[in-house]
Amino acid sequence: MQPSSSLAAKTLDAHERLNELYGIQAIHGYPDPMHELIGTILSHRTTHANEATAYRTMRERFPTWEQVRDAPLSDLIDAIQTANYPEIKAPYIQNLLAHLFRETGAANIDFLGNLSTQDAMNWLTTLPGIGLKTATILLLFKFHKPVLPVDTHVHRVTQRVGILGPKVSAEKAHTLLLAYLPQDSLVLFNFHKHFYWHGQRICTWYYPKCNDCVLRDMCDFYQSGGTALLSSTPIRNKKSANS
Ligand code: SF4
Repeated sequence: MQPSSSLAAKTLDAHERLNELYGIQAIHGYPDPMHELIGTILSHRTTHANEATAYRTMRERFPTWEQVRDAPLSDLIDAIQTANYPEIKAPYIQNLLAHLFRETGAANIDFLGNLSTQDAMNWLTTLPGIGLKTATILLLFKFHKPVLPVDTHVHRVTQRVGILGPKVSAEKAHTLLLAYLPQDSLVLFNFHKHFYWHGQRICTWYYPKCNDCVLRDMCDFYQSGGTALLSSTPIRNKKSANS
């Protein structure tokens, strides 16, 4: 299906405004692909500082990936406890490492850089616990492949602006948004970063700061009065509506 030209134009307009606001960033990530992969798992619903502490503590206690894989589960949970949900993330990490050692003989994914984007994506998403978001972050940040990670902030802001429909899932958004953008890793990295920051700082879940928003005049949610509705809903009800 061909992407709508008006939505593609809206996407590029929003992208250019956020480029202007936040400035173009060079692609950057963690120093090595395994750090990016495991760090992305640790980062789920966790601040950057707490994720970094969890990763550092884990590597100090278990300096090799074999040691991480074979550690008693309770010790690994303890090592990554600054990340939220350590009891879920620790077995994920050990399963993933066991799979990597079994399939490739090492915890080394540098070879992904030599695969086509589609092949790298297919390989990564067969790993236990690795979904589209983690795979696209790794491939874009570390290997500069032209893919677009869609996290909760990117998803929410693009839906509110009206680039994505209200029922489009985050999984589906990975493909839809990508179709509106140039297949250029620098563009895609900046699109991801800028919408992520905008969702964190301006278009927050509760009380979006629409008066400070450079997307206001193109935002469907704002134009339809959705923001007023959100701001007038008691927090108590919002929480239960979201739970
Ligand atoms: S105008 Fe308001 S709802 Fe729309 S993107 Fe900006 S902050 Fe979000």
